[in-house]
Amino acid sequence: MSTIYNYDLAIVGAGPAGLYTAILAAKKGMKVVLIEKRKDISKMTRYCSEHIILEENYNGDTMILEPGKPLNSKGWIDEDSVNKLRSVKNGWEIEFKGALCPTTEKYYYSRNLKHNAHYAWPDRHPFAWKYDKNYFLQQLLDQVLALGIEYLTETTCYEAVDVPEGVTLKCVKQGKRFKMYAKKLLAADGATAQVAQSLGMNEGRMYFASALTLCLYMSGVKEYNPESWCGFWGLCYGSNFAPLMGTGPAGHFDWADLILIGHSKQMPWDLYEYFTKKSPVAWMFENAKIEQTHSCMTKAFAPLKTPYKGNTLVIGDAAAFVETQMQGAINCAVWAADAFEKELNGKPGFAEYTKKWLESFEFNDDGMMQVVSGYALIPYYTDEEVEYLFTFLDGVTMDGNWSQYASPRMMWHEIHKHDAEIQAQRPEVWAKINKQQNVTLSDSMS
Ligand SMILES: Cc1cc2nc3c(=O)[nH]c(=O)nc-3n(C[C@H](O)[C@H](O)[C@H](O)COP(=O)(O)OP(=O)(O)OC[C@H]3O[C@@H](n4cnc5c(N)ncnc54)[C@H](O)[C@@H]3O)c2cc1C
Repeated sequence: MSTIYNYDLAIVGAGPAGLYTAILAAKKGMKVVLIEKRKDISKMTRYCSEHIILEENYNGDTMILEPGKPLNSKGWIDEDSVNKLRSVKNGWEIEFKGALCPTTEKYYYSRNLKHNAHYAWPDRHPFAWKYDKNYFLQQLLDQVLALGIEYLTETTCYEAVDVPEGVTLKCVKQGKRFKMYAKKLLAADGATAQVAQSLGMNEGRMYFASALTLCLYMSGVKEYNPESWCGFWGLCYGSNFAPLMGTGPAGHFDWADLILIGHSKQMPWDLYEYFTKKSPVAWMFENAKIEQTHSCMTKAFAPLKTPYKGNTLVIGDAAAFVETQMQGAINCAVWAADAFEKELNGKPGFAEYTKKWLESFEFNDDGMMQVVSGYALIPYYTDEEVEYLFTFLDGVTMDGNWSQYASPRMMWHEIHKHDAEIQAQRPEVWAKINKQQNVTLSDSMS
C-alpha cells in the first residue's frame, strides 16, 4: 500500500522559527502540523536572556520596535502595552503585548572595575529591549490555533526519513511511538538539531565548544541598573568567560540577571560562588537573594551551509552557529514559508532560502572568527594586560551596540588607534595581539 503524505508541511519545534512558519504557511493555504516536545511553551525551560536587538543591519536586518505605551515612572513599559516589532529589510510586522525594559548602556569592565568599554548612543535611546519571550511565543501560538493548525504537544520527533515523495516522521508522545507523513518537513527544533542529525545533515559540521550557562534572577543587588548590560573581564572575576549582568524578567525588571558561563572544568555554580563572594564585585551581592534559577547548555557547531536535503529544510538555531536570536529565527520563518510554497509547486525554493540564509547571518562568514577573538580576551591576556588595553578606552563612548560580533570589533577598533603606543610601551602585548586571530573558541575554553 502506498504511503499517503497527508500534510503539506510538518514542522518540528514551536520556537519562534517554527511558530511563525506555521502561521505563514497556513495563510498560504498549506495543511500544516506543528510538533512540539514541551507541554507548555509559555514557560521557559531553556534559558534565553530575552532581548530584542535593535542595531542596524544585525544579522542582515534592522528591527524597529514601537512600544504601545510610554515608559512608566520606574523606567520601563507596563505589561498591558501592545507593541509592534517591524523588520525593515524583510517587511514583516508582529503586534505583541507585554512589558519592555530598554537597554541603553553596555559596560565591559576590566579588573577591579577600573576601566571599561562603554557603549551607548549619545541621546541614550535603546539599542535593545528586554521583552517577555514566553508571552510573545504564547501569542504566536494563539494565532497558530486560531488558524486551525494541528498542534501536537509533548511530542518528540526523534527521527525523520526523507524519500522523494515525502518525509516520514517518527515521533513519541508519553512513551507511545507513532509515525506521521508529510510532503515537506521543516526542522525548527533549535540548537539540539535532532532532526538534522537523524538525516545525517550534521556530519561535517565542525564542533567548537560547549558552554554550561547558569542564570540567576536576583533581588537586592547593589548598584544594579535595569538599563545596563555589564560584562566583567578578568580572572579576578573567577571565569574565562566574562560573567554578565543584565535585566531581570518581565514583571521583575528590578531584579538583576546574573549569567555565568562555564564548562566541565569551570562549573557554573563554582563561578557563582567565586563571583558573588570573592571577586572585586562581591560587595554588590552582600544582601542579594536568588529569586529564580535557569540554565542551559550551548554547543557551538559550524553553521549548516546547505540547510536542506530532499524534502527537508532546517532553519533557525537548528542550522546555526550558536544562535539566530528570536528576530533572526522569524526572518528564517518568513523565507521558509516562501520556500515551501515554491517547492510544493516544483520550484527551487530551498536554494533561494539558502542564498538569503548565507547572505544574512554573520556567522556564515568570517564574522565567526571575530566572535572567537572577542571571547578569547580571557585568559589569553592577563588581567593586567586587559586593564592596560582598556586604558585606551577611557573617556570613549562607542555607539550603542548589542552584537557579540560587532562589539569586540568596535572595541578593538578603538584600541588599534593606539598601536604605535602599544608597540613602544608593551611589545609583548603587541605580539599577543598579532597572534590573537589564531586563537579559537575551543582554545579559550581548554
Ligand atoms: C544563553 C542564551 C541567551 C540568549 N539570549 C537571547 C536574547 O537576548 N535575544 C534573542 O533574541 N535570542 C536569545 N537567545 C537565542 C534564542 O533563544 C534563539 O536564537 C531562538 O529562540 C531560536 O529560535 P528557534 O525557533 O530556532 O529555536 P528554539 O527557540 O530553540 O525552539 C526550538 C523548539 O523545538 C522544540 N524541540 C526541540 N527538539 C524537538 C524535537 N526533537 N521534537 C519536538 N520538538 C522539539 C523545543 O522544545 C523548542 O520549543 C539566547 C540563547 C541562549 C542560549
